Amino acid sequence: MKILVATRSEGKQRELRRLFAAAGYEAVFPSDAGVAWSGDEEQLEVSDSFETNARMKAEYFAQKTSLPTVADDSGLEVIALGGQPGARSKRWAGVTGPPTEVDAANNAELLRRLAGLAEGKRRARYRCVLAYLPRRSAPPQIFQGICNGSILVQPTGNGGFGYDPLFLSDDLGKSFGEADQNEKDAVSHRGRAFRAFLGTLRQGVAPR
Ligand code: IMP
Repeated sequence: MKILVATRSEGKQRELRRLFAAAGYEAVFPSDAGVAWSGDEEQLEVSDSFETNARMKAEYFAQKTSLPTVADDSGLEVIALGGQPGARSKRWAGVTGPPTEVDAANNAELLRRLAGLAEGKRRARYRCVLAYLPRRSAPPQIFQGICNGSILVQPTGNGGFGYDPLFLSDDLGKSFGEADQNEKDAVSHRGRAFRAFLGTLRQGVAPR
């Protein structure tokens, strides 16, 4: 069964291709389905709510493709910052451009905001919320995954993407930047949310 996965992020696509294949499903991304990028997509992630953003993305791409569609919205929540950057994780530092530049600016912003904060006060979690539309006009089904950790004082490792070199995973005892892909998949917020979703799909709980 083919499922349209509504993301253009190459980092996410790499992770999701593996998770879908492991569950016996084929992930199809917008460009595979012939959906050219449009400026309208900028308006799909404007809410402070992960769930609203995920729903907006799923609805947009389901309309475009008529395929069963799943979209996620995810981000980092730092406890000492009252849950920031949250749904604003991608554009937190206000920089646009190539992903490596955006990530570097966001990571610098995170270190700046937490400068001088003691180790025990740097708690954080990644959250992933996903919305699945089995059909274009169906109500969305919502799934969620969380992983806990803390923010390091300097980047460690070159793996993953986004905030990963600064995120020390409680489960792994090392940063997501140091983790290999299978290790990250096993404990990550996205891995947990998508496995919950793919599990219900396999059991036929989610209507097709
Ligand atoms: P979105 O879900 O595509 O809106 O992206 C959310 C943003 O949150 C990303 O651009 C990253 O900055 C951050 N983020 C979400 N998941 C991860 C992750 O697994 N590792 C590192 N950063 C992440």
